[in-house]
Amino acid sequence: MVGSALYRNLKKKKMNLIKVSKDKLDLRIQKDVDQWLGKNKPDIIFLAAARVGGILENNNYPAEFISENLQIQTNVITSAYKKNIRQIIFLGSACIYPISNKPIKENDLLSGRLEPTNRAYSVAKIAGIEMCRSFSEQYGLNYLSVQPNNLYGPKDNFSAKSGHVIPALIKKMYDAKVSNKKKCEIWGSGKPKREFLFVDDLAEALFFILEKYKKIEPINIGSGFEITIHDLALLIKNIIGYNGELIFNEKYPDGVYRKFLDSSKIKNLGWKPKVSIEEGLKLTVEWFLKNKC
Ligand code: GDP
Repeated sequence: MVGSALYRNLKKKKMNLIKVSKDKLDLRIQKDVDQWLGKNKPDIIFLAAARVGGILENNNYPAEFISENLQIQTNVITSAYKKNIRQIIFLGSACIYPISNKPIKENDLLSGRLEPTNRAYSVAKIAGIEMCRSFSEQYGLNYLSVQPNNLYGPKDNFSAKSGHVIPALIKKMYDAKVSNKKKCEIWGSGKPKREFLFVDDLAEALFFILEKYKKIEPINIGSGFEITIHDLALLIKNIIGYNGELIFNEKYPDGVYRKFLDSSKIKNLGWKPKVSIEEGLKLTVEWFLKNKC
């Protein structure tokens, strides 16, 4: 999803994107990564590849989430260093931060307890962030980590089981509508709040950072827009045109109650998101209806 958004954005710029698909290069295999980077020698790497999933997927497969993410990022960062590639933008995540009810600043990292449902994934990402900092400081490189909040958009994983909340609810409500189901199940209480960022806004933010941010200290990227899962579900229901009832099933985990980033660092540099949640959801549903995966 992020890679495709970067590609859409890059087409407008005078930059040459070298892309490689998962079936051509398995980033979990160090010697293949070494070879590929040695051959292609990019000036900048956007490290968006990761094993990702929604709350239940993270909770059920922590072994894969920690080990595969550690493999991918360690392979790319160490090979990049060996091949003298001087710039990486590594995508972390807002879930690396300790549980907090307040807007979360970059320097809150490692100051408290992590949310258990995605702890394995978070610890892997924290290791990636620390690797970027260590390689930058020790070898004078520009390996920067950025922390986007909950992303959504075209090419997301529209699975009711393994997807994040937005694609999962689009899929579930669409299926409920076409099969005339009277009820659609939403996980948890509906009370938690999330800050959502449309993936094309993230792509713009990444190019903005490339141009305007010359430091190696991690930087947050949040939309500043927060909504409860309950209200989000109503928005999606409306866009899909589903007329049944939403049932909140509290047997499923809520995760953190709030996960809101303090994005003043990037906002003070002049970046702001362009796509509202209503518009972003419409574009995402449009993409889903065309591709129905
Ligand atoms: P999180 O931000 O890591 O918790 O990621 P998710 O996008 O998976 O979940 C966000 C919130 O949406 C949590 O409170 C979930 O319980 C809630 N939620 C409600 N229905 C669903 C669903 O069908 N799938 C997912 N993934 N989350 C859901």
